[in-house]
Amino acid sequence: MEIQFLGAAREVTGSCYLFQVGKHRFLVDCGLIQGTFEHEKKNWAAFPFDARKLDAVVLTHAHLDHSGRLPMLVKEGFRGFIYTHRATAALCRVMLQDAAYLNAEETERFNRYRARNGQDLIEPLYDQDDVYTTERHFQPLDYGESTEIVPGATLTLHDAGHILGSAIVELELSEDGVTRRVVLSGDLGHAGAPILNDPTALTEADLVVMESTYGDRCHRSWEATWAELGDIIRSAHAGKGNILVPAFAVGRAQELLYALARHYDEWEVRDWHVFLDSPMAIETTELYRRFHGLYDRAARAAMKSNNGDPFSMRNLRLTKTAEESMHINDIRAGAIVIAGSGMCTGGRIVHHLKRNLAHEHCHVIIAGFQARGTLGRTLVDGAKTVHLFGEDIPVRAQIHTVGGLSAHADQAGLAAWYGNFKKRPPLALVHGEPEAMDALATHLREKFQATVRCPEPGQRLSLAGLDSA
Ligand SMILES: [Zn+2]
Repeated sequence: MEIQFLGAAREVTGSCYLFQVGKHRFLVDCGLIQGTFEHEKKNWAAFPFDARKLDAVVLTHAHLDHSGRLPMLVKEGFRGFIYTHRATAALCRVMLQDAAYLNAEETERFNRYRARNGQDLIEPLYDQDDVYTTERHFQPLDYGESTEIVPGATLTLHDAGHILGSAIVELELSEDGVTRRVVLSGDLGHAGAPILNDPTALTEADLVVMESTYGDRCHRSWEATWAELGDIIRSAHAGKGNILVPAFAVGRAQELLYALARHYDEWEVRDWHVFLDSPMAIETTELYRRFHGLYDRAARAAMKSNNGDPFSMRNLRLTKTAEESMHINDIRAGAIVIAGSGMCTGGRIVHHLKRNLAHEHCHVIIAGFQARGTLGRTLVDGAKTVHLFGEDIPVRAQIHTVGGLSAHADQAGLAAWYGNFKKRPPLALVHGEPEAMDALATHLREKFQATVRCPEPGQRLSLAGLDSA
């Protein structure tokens, strides 16, 4: 009985953990590696296991750094079920199709580079057909429902409060009369975040595998975050410039819409034209509406008081087509544009940035995690010039980092969630840059006297032998 840390080990993306119980093997997550060009090339590497011999997959949530390599698994012969929350299965339909499309574009970019260097050309990771095939493998579950996924492994999903359908994975594993309970946090939500519930507190585990994205940071309080966002919007005069908000289509975009609708008068949102400029964010918002049973109490109340839809506003426009998006590009002032991608690595936001960054009255609100090597990170780090579509664009716009809006728990949140476990089970930290992970490890050792590991990529950990470790 063991776990092998195949991805998001000492880094943030590419989540992938291989479990072996008796003769059976299953994965938790099968995510894309995201970041720099060099980094993303690793997605083309073969899996270090035979996909045909995997019995099942458990998916924590729909973000591509957790789900984005699933179609490759299926393409390579995986025939089992992909167990996940039903909202995640619905979201994955949207996200994986988009991923296939983006990957086709990216492959072309790689191939231009490879052709220049005399290297063989590569194929896209997968196409739309592979995504359709993958969808047939989903086995949707509800929170709290226990299912035997392979002989000797029972799965229960719990609300992680990170994005719609996100789950903490609880596994009860048995082999040769030994039983181990392993809990994987998945991406753990930020308590108090809008729309969704706070992460579920669990109390029993023999091993906790926990994310550490913000392991070295504390977010601002929610009150301070809303006040900050309101101040930026009120002080940006609608007549002078635009407000650009790069946003992940899933989660962040809905939180922003929800916040704008809730603070409509207070933030003077009525003076602006609000655009949700992302087909994927528009589809996702539809799914957030459909799965309203997963809302927290405040969102249920907002739904009632806002005509059954907590996201709607009089001056909100949903721009699906590229043509509509280009029209926004012509607006010099008075637009709040929420567009993908969240780290400005592609998508419509890059066009809006190109048009607006040189204007001193433009405001860019960075409201999510920005990985190293991304345009978003470059802006946060204070670059004076950025290179976009072959042009050097001076950055005169005001860049605001609103860290408190994160969809991830901060150091205090992670420690508090771990603190719910009785008997302080050993921890393995994953899904974080080394500095964040190491800071969290130190904090948890000091606070709880916990045994904390930070596994290296490929490292195995015997579950039966945990006590003696
Ligand atoms: Zn996530």
